[in-house]
Amino acid sequence: MLEAKNIRKGYKNGVKELHVLKGIDIKVEEGEFISVFGPSGAGKSTLLHILGGLDRPTDGTVFLDGKDIYKLSEKEKAWTRNTKIGFVFQFYHLLPDFTVLENVMMPLCIGKKGVGEEGQKKSRAKDILDLVALTDRLDHKPPQLSGGEKQRVAIARAVVNRPRLLLCDEPTGNLDSESGKQIIELLDELNKKNRTTVIVVTHEEKIAQRADRVFRIKDGKIY
Ligand code: ADP
Repeated sequence: MLEAKNIRKGYKNGVKELHVLKGIDIKVEEGEFISVFGPSGAGKSTLLHILGGLDRPTDGTVFLDGKDIYKLSEKEKAWTRNTKIGFVFQFYHLLPDFTVLENVMMPLCIGKKGVGEEGQKKSRAKDILDLVALTDRLDHKPPQLSGGEKQRVAIARAVVNRPRLLLCDEPTGNLDSESGKQIIELLDELNKKNRTTVIVVTHEEKIAQRADRVFRIKDGKIY
């Protein structure tokens, strides 16, 4: 479903150019659970952003369902991101002034899906929050939640549009080991139950090993 070919990314730093990714090829099949493992600074986040259509590579192509995502118009790309891809970040990126329920409903209110009925959106968001075991936190706001709970809200928000691809950037990086374990189990459940394709970027070997396949990234290449 996802194929990246010869991905290169460089950043200009004054006159110098920093080559972060030096020709990466990745092919991911529908329903796989993949991890991208490597030390901090190896280029994992850069790669994940490129795979998700958030950051254009200096060179190379990314095909999602056979379409080159960087050849899509901005509108098509935004639609693709909103409907086909879910993102989970290390620092959750929840909206602090909105309730848990409102945060999870947010993707349903954007774009074409925005025309749906309010009641339907609410009930879909509630179902997902039930799945991540947060039914008793619907009216809380993010600052009132633990790190693990915040990440479960972020995952619920990421999957509420039923994306086929879930991209997670260090999803356990800010959590204690028990909460981290719960998050990985939740991602595993989403992968097995719904056949959601999951890609997790991590610097933790233990987390990486939970995946069906591990891509190791070093010196800008995959091993
Ligand atoms: P990782 O996720 O593996 O920790 P990153 O992808 O965040 O690594 O970063 C890889 C390298 O690229 C780092 O050296 C980082 O400083 C550099 N980098 C990332 N984003 C930028 C940017 N916007 N401008 C310049 N350098 C960047």
